[in-house]
Amino acid sequence: MPKTCIIIGASHAAAELAPSLRQEGWDGRILIIGDESYLPYHRPTLSKAFLSGEKSADDILIRPEAVYEKNNIEFMLNVRVDSINRADKTITLNNGEILDYDKLALCTGSRVRTVPLSGIDLPGIHYLRDLSQVEGIMQDVGEGKHAIIVGGGYIGLETASVLRKLGMEVTVLEMAPRVLARVTAPEVSEFYSRMHAEEGVTILTDVAVSGFEGDEHVSRVICSNGETLPANLVIVGVGILPNVEIAQDAGLEVDNGIIVDEYCLTSDPDIVAAGDCTSHPNALYNQRIRLESVPNASEQGKSAAASICGNKIAYQALPWFWSDQFDVKLRIAGLSQGYDEVVIRGNRHEGREFTAFYLKEGKLIAADCINTAKDFMISKALLSKEIPVTPEALADESFDLKQLLNS
Ligand code: FAD
Repeated sequence: MPKTCIIIGASHAAAELAPSLRQEGWDGRILIIGDESYLPYHRPTLSKAFLSGEKSADDILIRPEAVYEKNNIEFMLNVRVDSINRADKTITLNNGEILDYDKLALCTGSRVRTVPLSGIDLPGIHYLRDLSQVEGIMQDVGEGKHAIIVGGGYIGLETASVLRKLGMEVTVLEMAPRVLARVTAPEVSEFYSRMHAEEGVTILTDVAVSGFEGDEHVSRVICSNGETLPANLVIVGVGILPNVEIAQDAGLEVDNGIIVDEYCLTSDPDIVAAGDCTSHPNALYNQRIRLESVPNASEQGKSAAASICGNKIAYQALPWFWSDQFDVKLRIAGLSQGYDEVVIRGNRHEGREFTAFYLKEGKLIAADCINTAKDFMISKALLSKEIPVTPEALADESFDLKQLLNS
């Protein structure tokens, strides 16, 4: 009997894992089960080129359908896996169907954090995680209309940038004293506030939302400071939660993500996990981390596929991310959490090009590269190879950092 590998979740991790299984020699059945209606698509484009209308749903597929057909990869879409029974190696779907597996891959990703505020269910108020939600948002976009973005994180600011370019009056409400507070240094937050202001986006910090009002459709956002803002469209972007419940209920180890080792193996040798849903060890930072990033999902997909086939590819990649807002491409190398020093290369007060390097106890741990693609490439290499570099060299634009790579 050919063996069956079932992959739960049909997104970035699954789209890498399934073809990698064939490359690693899996000749059994591969079935991807996903609760959305689309083949895996590039999720980051949702707050970028898809929302702006530059790309269609077909344009953003991670792989054309033919690739899955060629590799004999089957899909069951619009269906959820409700539970995993590890004792008899079955899963139960929300339509009651029970399927057997030999190997199971959990690529369940994450979901938006919801806010239980009054009026949240009014039409015109949206979350932004999947393609169908963006299709809903597009119905409420219109030149001159008021858009309120709740949350000044990357997704909130990217959305603000696209909606502004589409001619909307955009206001971002951020509870913290600055935007991007969870992920960047104050210097970088300050830059983004300046850039958004230059583009005509209003950013209000230290402001929480206490509720939404409207008759048939949202028309007002009530703020904690008593202010009321007009709204034709509201997008709530206040973070995500990993989808770990079916793993947890099945008795797998879970702690801020499904616990996996560097080979993406869970505490059950027949079950792997990859992507946003995992908590995995990172040798460079010497700690367990959970990442919300496409490169992580793809690389873990490859390691997980190898493990299923009894091969070993350790996942040891340097975390990296990107964000597009107006004409600024931010590329982030490494993880800045725990930094004790920030070094700026370039002029952060004028123009739109500089790099913020993050150090901890004198060691470079991350870099936010704002329109500085070269600094990003060099930072990735410095970080991956743990090459020492002084704050003075990082700050000195006349010093070519590239020469450190040959040392
Ligand atoms: P996901 O993409 O979350 O997919 C998991 C899938 O599994 C979902 O379709 C989910 O519905 C499904 N699922 C979950 N449970 C079940 C179940 N029980 N049964 C069936 N199906 C299930 N990352 C970057 O690196 N750069 C960016 O610029 C960037 N921008 C982003 C912009 C937006 C708007 C969003 C939402 C995300 C962005 N990200 C970005 C994050 C990136 O998209 C994620 O890190 C990536 O999608 C993770 O892939 P994944 O396969 O692990 O999980």
